[in-house]
Amino acid sequence: SIYRTRDVCKPRYVRVNTLKLDVETALREFGKQYMVQKDNMVPDLLILPSGIDLHDHPLVANGSAFLQGKASSMVAVALEPKPGWEVLDACSAPGNKTVHLAALMRGKGKIIACELHAKRAKCLVNTIRKAGATNVEVLNGDFLSTDPKDPTFSKVSAILVDPSCSGSGTVAERLDHLLPSNKASEVDMTRLTKLAAFQQRALVHALSFPSVERIVYSTCSVHQIENEDVIKSVLPLASSYGFCLETTFPQWSRRGFPVFHGSHHLLRMDPVEDQEGFFIALLVRKKSCPVTAS
Ligand code: SAM
Repeated sequence: SIYRTRDVCKPRYVRVNTLKLDVETALREFGKQYMVQKDNMVPDLLILPSGIDLHDHPLVANGSAFLQGKASSMVAVALEPKPGWEVLDACSAPGNKTVHLAALMRGKGKIIACELHAKRAKCLVNTIRKAGATNVEVLNGDFLSTDPKDPTFSKVSAILVDPSCSGSGTVAERLDHLLPSNKASEVDMTRLTKLAAFQQRALVHALSFPSVERIVYSTCSVHQIENEDVIKSVLPLASSYGFCLETTFPQWSRRGFPVFHGSHHLLRMDPVEDQEGFFIALLVRKKSCPVTAS
């Protein structure tokens, strides 16, 4: 199918874990074996040829580099966490974005990484250990049950909401969707509605943290119901707290579906054209939101 063909042509992205290794050294090391170049949007991301298996590469094995796609690597960058900040990663396992946040913060400040499922929380701990991130506290529990007024969260200025989603932007899911079955689409709709309800609740909860200034919401889904619709549904509440949508990665031309005023701020990746389906939204707390054409 077109999907399989495209996937074979998909370049290998490698995110350099700058907690352990600098980008120039990584370029030299990978360059000894492969053609390698820097990505033009994510500063610590390298592009290698398609079809190579890097799982056993020493730099990957020792946590100096992570096999992480471009869209996934754009999420932590969109949040722009600064060294010294306190950041909450609401839905964090297996922790790829958690340790990326830690690297962007140069290991300074604090990340509270929340994960509901105990098994996945163990996986998160392993990722953190492998990355050598020392400023991450793991919270094994339900993000929706966290109390925003708890002093633990009083200095949280940025929140990443990367909730469970349908995964419809990923190759395996897309192949599943090719199976002809009317039943499957009914089940899908029920599943999508449930997922969207959770995604919306998680984002609403994030908005209620007293010191939060920046919130990034992301999914690896292509469905409007999990993406634009979730953002649209929280906008009235968000603006009552002083949050506005802001354009993340303005140089990226594929924006949100034009289903509401301001959807041009949203970022989309297309599963075929960009080889990965993804969605990113950025909310920033301001005194008042500028009026822009959609
Ligand atoms: N951000 C992760 C990364 O980049 O590696 C991927 C996150 S994954 C899309 C969503 C995660 O949220 C899953 O590990 C899931 O178990 C967790 N989760 C689901 N519901 C949750 C809740 N109520 N509170 C905290 N975590 C939750």
